[in-house]
Amino acid sequence: MKPVILDHLPDALLDQPASELHRHLDGPTLIHLPGRRPQPLFVSVLQHGNETSGWEAIRRLLKSRYQRDPLPRSLVLMIGNVRAAARGQRRLADQPDFNRCWPGAHGQRTIWHQLFGEITEHVRRLKPFASIDVHNNTGQNPHYAAVNRIEPQRLQLAARFSRTVIYFTEPLGVQSLAFGEFCPAVTLECGLAAETDGTDHAMAYVDGILNLDELSARMPAPEHLELYHMIATVTVREDIDFGFSAQAADLRFQPDLDRLNFREMPPGTRLARTVNGHGLPLIARSHDGRDLTSDCFAFADGQVVTRRPLMPAMLTTDESIVRQDCLCYLMERIGLDRPGEGRLDDDGSELPETLP
Ligand SMILES: [Zn+2]
Repeated sequence: MKPVILDHLPDALLDQPASELHRHLDGPTLIHLPGRRPQPLFVSVLQHGNETSGWEAIRRLLKSRYQRDPLPRSLVLMIGNVRAAARGQRRLADQPDFNRCWPGAHGQRTIWHQLFGEITEHVRRLKPFASIDVHNNTGQNPHYAAVNRIEPQRLQLAARFSRTVIYFTEPLGVQSLAFGEFCPAVTLECGLAAETDGTDHAMAYVDGILNLDELSARMPAPEHLELYHMIATVTVREDIDFGFSAQAADLRFQPDLDRLNFREMPPGTRLARTVNGHGLPLIARSHDGRDLTSDCFAFADGQVVTRRPLMPAMLTTDESIVRQDCLCYLMERIGLDRPGEGRLDDDGSELPETLP
């Protein structure tokens, strides 16, 4: 399979919602649009078919004054999973998760790995100004940006979207990790796809970056950035019957649990009640496979409570997502201003000592 590369917008493409793009595009498609500054900005939308804020932002942006005026900077747009978008799904049953198939991914190489590898090589040769990959998530989350290296230009890129920035190095095979090898790369999480403020925010952000002359090579000031890293993924044990209402047989979460997203929870914060006396209904695991459950949670007197200061992200109250993916991620703050904490190593690009 080859990526489709176009040097123009197909007719009427900007009139199509994400669910109709499959009638106009065959599959993942790159579209080159010229602008006054030749070094292009790369923007990726719809890697996940039901995460529509990115496409909505781009089509509104390109239908705005830029239908008349030239773009301030060239744009390379990647439109990802149009087949899944037609069904309003993240991916289809016969597809892998596109955002796990970029260079650096673990495991077996499929035709999709080859396709995203070719796209990567194509864009690398264009020496892009920056790379922006736009997503949505489920549950109540603030908008935030994510980076894969602690490095000034990508933190500047991230902090222009949100004060809240997450640093992650796993899972492998994501687009921002691959493109981060050759340009500042950021992932945007624009809240729920159904809410228009995610689209508004992404559109204003992309417009702002298109209009930038350069990205500052200085670290953002600590007051402009709250940087967190993921320490664990939390799942519910498979044999546990759980839910967010009183019907759940074993484990009953607080019904509005997603309100805790991005709140720093003090030790002792109650997350759920256990009904049938299961000792360990939750599992917290670091990305290198260590079991952090008893470090993070206490299970006593029919309660599940936290044991140390933690901040959850992407907590969802959708039971099917909890089953398929996870309950949430647990984050810890990285200080950029306090000596010894979040300290940069010699090349200024990694934080190995704080990795999970
Ligand atoms: Zn996504």
